[in-house]
Amino acid sequence: MNFLQSFEEFYESAAKHLDIPKGLSDQIKSCDSVYHLRFPITLDNGEIEVIDAWHGEHSHHRSPLKGGIRFSSLVNEDEVKVLASLMTFKCALVNVPFGGGKGGIKIDSKNYSKSELERITRRYTFELFSRNSLGPNTYVPATDYGTTSREMNWIYSTFKTLSNSNIDAAASVTSKSITQEGVNGRTEATGRGVYIGIRELLNDEKEMSRISLKKGIKGKKIIVQGFGNVGYHAALFLHEAGAKIIAVCEYNGSIYNKKGIDPIKLKEWLVEGKDITDFENCESSDDPWEFFYEECDILIPAALEEVINATNMYKVKAKIIAEGANGPVTFEADKYLANNGVIVLPDLYLNSGGVIVSYFEWLKNLNHVRWGRIENQGNNNLKEIDLINNALNETMVQAFHELSEKRNSTGKYISYRQSAYRLGIEKIANTYIEMGLFP
Ligand code: NAD
Repeated sequence: MNFLQSFEEFYESAAKHLDIPKGLSDQIKSCDSVYHLRFPITLDNGEIEVIDAWHGEHSHHRSPLKGGIRFSSLVNEDEVKVLASLMTFKCALVNVPFGGGKGGIKIDSKNYSKSELERITRRYTFELFSRNSLGPNTYVPATDYGTTSREMNWIYSTFKTLSNSNIDAAASVTSKSITQEGVNGRTEATGRGVYIGIRELLNDEKEMSRISLKKGIKGKKIIVQGFGNVGYHAALFLHEAGAKIIAVCEYNGSIYNKKGIDPIKLKEWLVEGKDITDFENCESSDDPWEFFYEECDILIPAALEEVINATNMYKVKAKIIAEGANGPVTFEADKYLANNGVIVLPDLYLNSGGVIVSYFEWLKNLNHVRWGRIENQGNNNLKEIDLINNALNETMVQAFHELSEKRNSTGKYISYRQSAYRLGIEKIANTYIEMGLFP
């Protein structure tokens, strides 16, 4: 089963329990449109390379569309369609009023210089702009795998130029640097959201006794796959709350220390360009999977999709799988894990912190004023970062309760993923029906 089929199975397995006309359900499931773009860029050595890229628009039931732009050599059309779809259901689930979109450029950033990456990003921005597929009211991208605020700043700068300094140009892209109209807290928002979701689950006494785990974060053993934006920040907040990061798996190797790994020190190590396998006081291996299957309380896949699948699901020894990445557990593996008493906190909910804070950034940009500036009225107590973090916390806690209520409302146990899909689909269906598009 490939990524698209897996997503469709997840969708159908939830939709069949809902009272929604088939035509409406088909509309909600399918991706409205997808562009395959091919454009040339000049490399530093003067040669021309043609780049493949995609832009997916899953659902226009709300505007604008929201979803990150990914740089990866694995990007393809199906992947972009699925990732755009996940964005739609994620936004509906956490009550962020956007449709789902996604962008993907088929490159490995490591193979390009900074100036080449800038040319690729600016050209991709132009391609979207010229098709009216980018802007504060159409599609608003953000960071994803392989991109950072640097690329988002380039998109903003290009959009601003092309749109004759549209007064709302800053709202055409989120996850920008603070000095480029970004919002405090966006960089770490997805990882913080992963932490909040895990914290809420670990505080649920009934759920913990079901999987024979002690309540609370303190002392929980955690393995993280992918130590980028999401994986690092999730590890950081969990570590600060008293959990132990016992293993980190990266694309070029993995490390293990049962006493715990300090994520800040490891990040500094990697930023200095040192090899993960040389990190202090750890067992290490060149094999990225070496410590992935170790016994732990929580496994956080935070790199790419389909990493837990029909071929390796038997080896996973975690009690909880917390999906930092989009789509890391396939449909078959999800079923197997649920039958074996493993709790999966699904991507739709768990990594929504990024889009929640992107929503706040978009609002800030449209308001043209920093959060807290006017509300302060002369005293400096209301800091933007506190307002953002509190609002993120509130949104994620509320969504967790909605998920739990949905699970309990059916009278028999359903997974968090089932409950997330059912809630998302219902909300989108209601929007369509209330708009009068479906009887
Ligand atoms: P990133 O590029 O910052 O980090 C990804 C990390 O994974 C990198 O350190 C990379 O080296 C590592 N990696 C790649 N292949 C690997 C492998 N085979 N084994 C182990 N590690 C590997 O990307 P990110 O922004 O952290 O995104 C990671 C995931 O989270 C993606 O699925 C993305 O869609 C999802 N996500 C990201 C955001 C966001 O705000 N950035 C929001 C929601 C979801």
